[in-house]
Amino acid sequence: MTDRNTYASLRARVREFCKDFPDDYWRELDRTRSYPEAFTRAMTETGLLGALIPTEYGGLGMCLAEASVILEEVNYSGGNAGPAHAQMYVMGTLLRYGSEAQKRAYLPKIARGELRLQAFGVTEPDAGSDTTSLTTTAVRDGDRYIVNGRKIYISRVQHSDLMLLLARTTPLDRVQRKSHGLSVFLIDLHDALANGLTVAPIPIMMNNETNKLTFDNVPIPASSLIGEEGRGFRYILDGMNAERILIAAECIGDGHWFVERATRRAQERAVFGRQIGQNQGVQFPIARAHVNVEAADLMRFRAAEKFDRGEPCGAEANMAKLLAADASWEAANVALQTYGGYGFAAEYDIERKFRETRLYQVAPLSTNLILSYVAEHVLGLPRSY
Ligand SMILES: Cc1cc2nc3c(=O)[nH]c(=O)nc-3n(C[C@H](O)[C@H](O)[C@H](O)COP(=O)(O)OP(=O)(O)OC[C@H]3O[C@@H](n4cnc5c(N)ncnc54)[C@H](O)[C@@H]3O)c2cc1C
Repeated sequence: MTDRNTYASLRARVREFCKDFPDDYWRELDRTRSYPEAFTRAMTETGLLGALIPTEYGGLGMCLAEASVILEEVNYSGGNAGPAHAQMYVMGTLLRYGSEAQKRAYLPKIARGELRLQAFGVTEPDAGSDTTSLTTTAVRDGDRYIVNGRKIYISRVQHSDLMLLLARTTPLDRVQRKSHGLSVFLIDLHDALANGLTVAPIPIMMNNETNKLTFDNVPIPASSLIGEEGRGFRYILDGMNAERILIAAECIGDGHWFVERATRRAQERAVFGRQIGQNQGVQFPIARAHVNVEAADLMRFRAAEKFDRGEPCGAEANMAKLLAADASWEAANVALQTYGGYGFAAEYDIERKFRETRLYQVAPLSTNLILSYVAEHVLGLPRSY
């Protein structure tokens, strides 16, 4: 049975670490829209960011459930693991499908912090939810591929050395299924930037560095292909399940943070001569939000444990992400309401975390698409799109 008391020593370690990055650290970054450089560096130095890298390559060799606890605790501390989390969720693709030479070349350097693998290039202007309709191409040319196309909302590119890229290597009209003919590449962003890749930042509602990318005849070495050509979509699905479970954990951390802040405020704020938390109209929504965060937590662990046993976990990973994102969003609304007007002031951090947790209704996969997945793949209903 796994719950908030399991992994107690890991939680204690992360909580201790997070004390160096209190609310005002994150608030200031949000105000200036800056990347949490000191936090990410420290996460690497303590080894926490290399949690999923096997010990033989210099990492901590933890399982996904443990990695999820790390990210949960970062968000529970009032921070935002988002600027650094990609290194954990893209790791699976490299670990499971990368060659030994690729692992030896990159993993020890990533574990030591000499290289950052924080970018994951999938979404395109005309391919968001409909991933397999992406049109960025990588065409083989001797011992290299030439990449052309556009990506959008690709996060952390300016703070990463490496990017996992999904591109089409066989044209759509020559494959049996849309999901075939896509390939994954581990590309060196510095080389690409010097050879035709342009990056344009997109200002958004929260502090998350995200970008438009244009590939204009960018050559990448053939050795950057991960696994077999044409099987890339299959490879990143594993990574996507890890991503959903890790993001569910971040939402659970957010959810507990909102519930605790709301509870404290309800105890401390007196209106009409009594604590506002004495009113059922105030306490019931907080209690309900707590119940829903706890329930989502059970699904997170069920999904993570199946992932760690190597069992299919698409249904559980999707359900965990949906439940956790809904629970954290509910808790965010409840906290804002409990704070009244004060919730809108930056100094209480509620509005910052409110904006941050809202993302997970949409990315990396929107709520509707998860419901479609459950309807089709779990319940056997007809495909709706
Ligand atoms: C801050 C941020 C960071 C991001 N970082 C990355 C990143 O690092 N790498 C990356 O590759 N991507 C990233 N993304 C992109 C993200 O994964 C996409 O935004 C997401 O997959 C949704 O795609 P879309 O925005 O194109 O929405 P669309 O696909 O245009 O969908 C719009 C709306 O229509 C709904 N919809 C669409 N089709 C259906 C249907 N058949 N049934 C019901 N509803 C439907 C969707 O649920 C959604 O609500 C990021 C996005 C944001 C906002």
